[in-house]
Amino acid sequence: MKQNFAVIGLGRFGSSICRVLASEGQEVLAIDVNEERVNHLVNTATQAIVADGQDEDTMRSLEIGKFDHVVIAIGKNIQASILVTLVVKELGVPDVTAKAENDTHARVLTRIGADHVVHPERDMGERVAHHLLSPNILNYLALNDDVTLAEIKITSSEFVGKSLMDLNFHQHFGLTVIAIQHGDKVTVSPAGNDVVRLNDEISVVGSTKAVDALNDRMQ
Ligand code: ADP
Repeated sequence: MKQNFAVIGLGRFGSSICRVLASEGQEVLAIDVNEERVNHLVNTATQAIVADGQDEDTMRSLEIGKFDHVVIAIGKNIQASILVTLVVKELGVPDVTAKAENDTHARVLTRIGADHVVHPERDMGERVAHHLLSPNILNYLALNDDVTLAEIKITSSEFVGKSLMDLNFHQHFGLTVIAIQHGDKVTVSPAGNDVVRLNDEISVVGSTKAVDALNDRMQ
């Protein structure tokens, strides 16, 4: 479904959002106060404009309120990020995603109506740290404080060459295997007789403790 997006703030974060949305064929209006940043996206975004997101009249004239989603990708200038969030929410944007520099900034953004608050640097830092500590966990998604979906690389001979039925992850770890990836081939909802091989990547869902316990067995 084609939707329309506006991205305000075209630093590294905002510009990469614009690039992905545009490459997916979506309508993207790219806005920044800095002309050079705007020029970088002229050939990528549907429209790229030099404007101050804090200026309510300008935002109104761009009909920001009619956009399905607005991303506020202003980090360092916290005051501007807050004011732009206020302006776009006041103009009626239904779905606003704002980037936060720190926890206090995040709390303010939520309080003034941002629908989603993201902390790209904190989140990426956490991911890198987790990966350094647990190199077998290739990817994870915390579904809540207790439940995690993780992609784990099979490196322990204890698992290699055995079927899911034999391994019985559910009974031994309290984990459900939702996919097995072998090279480029992904088996979704694998059957009991599917066999796990060396360096396969299995996607499991269960308690974070259980994921950690399985990961420990790979060391
Ligand atoms: P990143 O870490 O993603 O590079 P920055 O905080 O460095 O993020 O970049 C934010 C961008 O937002 C900059 O290009 C800056 O010019 C732009 N910006 C800052 N204030 C405003 C504003 N009021 N309206 C529009 N763009 C803004």
